[in-house]
Amino acid sequence: MIKVAFYDTKEYDRPSFELYGKLHNVEYKFLETKLTEDTVELARGCDAVCVFVNDTVNAAVIDRLYEFGVKMIALRCAGYNNVDVRQAYRKVHVTHVPAYSPYAVAEHAAAMLLTSVRRIHKAYDRTRNFNFSINGLTGFDLHGKTVGVVGTGRIGRIFIDICKGFGMNVLAYDKFPAEGFGINYVSLDELFEKSDIISLHCPLTDATRHLINADSIAKMKKGIVIVNTSRGALIDAEALLEGIKARKVGAACLDVYEEEADIFFEDRSGHILDDELLSRLITMPNVIVTSHQAFLTVEALNNIAETTVGNILSCFQSDGACDNELCYRCGDIEHCRKNGRKVRCF
Ligand code: NAD
Repeated sequence: MIKVAFYDTKEYDRPSFELYGKLHNVEYKFLETKLTEDTVELARGCDAVCVFVNDTVNAAVIDRLYEFGVKMIALRCAGYNNVDVRQAYRKVHVTHVPAYSPYAVAEHAAAMLLTSVRRIHKAYDRTRNFNFSINGLTGFDLHGKTVGVVGTGRIGRIFIDICKGFGMNVLAYDKFPAEGFGINYVSLDELFEKSDIISLHCPLTDATRHLINADSIAKMKKGIVIVNTSRGALIDAEALLEGIKARKVGAACLDVYEEEADIFFEDRSGHILDDELLSRLITMPNVIVTSHQAFLTVEALNNIAETTVGNILSCFQSDGACDNELCYRCGDIEHCRKNGRKVRCF
């Protein structure tokens, strides 16, 4: 039996992880708390820890895990910016789930877009109060509009297909354009200038941080609709708020927010929100915020659990090689291959 300390457990995590755990002799210690320097002690006696996007896996935490004999850190997400992968080298193996359901995220982006442009959120509120007036709910057709897609990887390409289904014109920008998909690539500036809607599907890197800022908003059409299901820091939220106040930005659909770490995923309804910027954005009639839930489908949760448990088994069984192990050297798991075969990182 492999024993795993499962940090930051949410109600929706348990069914799929319990299912795959039972199938493969993996036992969990479910913990509601996040992994931090203060809570790392709870992993003592476990073989592995399973963590999510907002757990702290810095050098101090890694050294304590190593001291306790914890052999691996199994991330149940794709991003690993919260893990000091370099510090983990030769101490604790780190794995992640590179892809789980690109459809979940692309469909959520489309759902937010439709909700926004057809004012579904407003209509829902009204009819619940038996207000059947449709004044002020005028939307616009997506058909014939131009959507600019930034990042044409797994999620971006599915979002493009959805948009084509609506009869939209698609422009795209990617630092590494994908061949063979018939995508109409343009420069970032052209995308900003010509799009009626912009949807972000690129990773957060130094090059993409605050990609949407005061300068880029100035280049956009009046009434631009901005959709972000990728990472919060792709948008300078203050510039976005200014753009909304100036009536330049027509609507914003945000599943992610730069300062979400201490806010999202928790019920804060009984508290006063300290984040003025987020509070102000939420009060805007043309802003829709969801709490980083684009991934949250049954299919995605099952894929996350199946891959994470598979990663754990790979690390503890056979030759210990795991396709999803993160290489300390550069974060590119390909570098752990020798003669085309996956080899153990250390
Ligand atoms: P992917 O790696 O398949 O695609 C990312 C694309 O972005 C690639 O084509 C890449 O070339 C491109 N890119 C890299 N740098 C760029 C740059 N500087 N400018 C423009 N494009 C650039 O990733 P994916 O699976 O499609 O995921 C996209 C993003 O979605 C992830 O980075 C993640 O931040 C986000 N995501 C969000 C959720 C959620 O629940 N909201 C869930 C999963 C993923």
